[in-house]
Amino acid sequence: MAALGNPGNTIAVLKKYRFNFQKKYGQNFLINMGILEEIIEAAQITKDDFVLEIGPGIGTLTQVLCESAREVAAVEIDTSLIPILKETLSAYDNVEVINEDILKINLAEFVREKNGGKPIKVVANLPYYITTPIIMQLFESHAPIESITVMVQKEVAERMQQGPGNKEYGALSLAVQYYAQPEIVADVSPDSFIPQPKVGSSVIRLTRHEKPPVDVRSEKLLFQVIRASFNQRRKTLANGLNNFGAFSIGKEALQSCIEELGVPVNVRGEALSLEQFARLSNLIFDRQNIE
Ligand code: SAM
Repeated sequence: MAALGNPGNTIAVLKKYRFNFQKKYGQNFLINMGILEEIIEAAQITKDDFVLEIGPGIGTLTQVLCESAREVAAVEIDTSLIPILKETLSAYDNVEVINEDILKINLAEFVREKNGGKPIKVVANLPYYITTPIIMQLFESHAPIESITVMVQKEVAERMQQGPGNKEYGALSLAVQYYAQPEIVADVSPDSFIPQPKVGSSVIRLTRHEKPPVDVRSEKLLFQVIRASFNQRRKTLANGLNNFGAFSIGKEALQSCIEELGVPVNVRGEALSLEQFARLSNLIFDRQNIE
């Protein structure tokens, strides 16, 4: 039975193995059974699901996942946790622990190999130092991922949901909203973890869109335009795009694309919606292909 949500059991395991927390791996282990249940419920895990867990730690969330899902693959970077996981997961025959850096895994190939290419769910209490690279990897791999339910820093969860005009709105908000529907499902205080993080946390569910909400001629160009616009937040959009250096058309042509969008020429990127970024990237795409 899943038992590590109980702080006493977690402390006993940590003592038995004389485990040293590695700050560089963002190790904050969950010790709140109620939150574990909320995560499983938010992710809508059933016995049909194949779940990828990123960073199982000592196996706290993994145990609960094994009890709810058909199959679980847990990718953990820290080799010293592998013998611990062997013990804490010994009661389950539907889990595979992979000692690897998640960022080094080819996810499309992984899903093909482990689940015959059928959609999987991702569930994790993420290491906060690489939240954005992991989320971007999950989306940009184009692996069949139905939903991502993750614990992240509260501020980052809020950023994923923001729209134009908000100071937290940025490239991460746009990337998340292009690929998925974000919904914060719980706020979690630091005392639900050992050791306690210095920041508040939230569980957020990202449900993958079947089709992106906007049509773009080139996804790569859309994300270049977005990155260029937020790279130099205090510059106008025209300057930001021009200084980025990735577009083959000059500043005047970039400016005329912005005008065609119907926004003031001195507008800043943070004022544009996803739809406007999509239109702008299509205008730049067309210009680049005539010139
Ligand atoms: N799931 C556990 C829990 O909820 O108690 C642990 C969560 S802890 C916040 C993050 C975990 O991710 C740690 O076990 C850490 O070692 C692991 N981790 C950090 N960087 C990683 C990476 N690049 N690839 C895979 N796992 C990683």
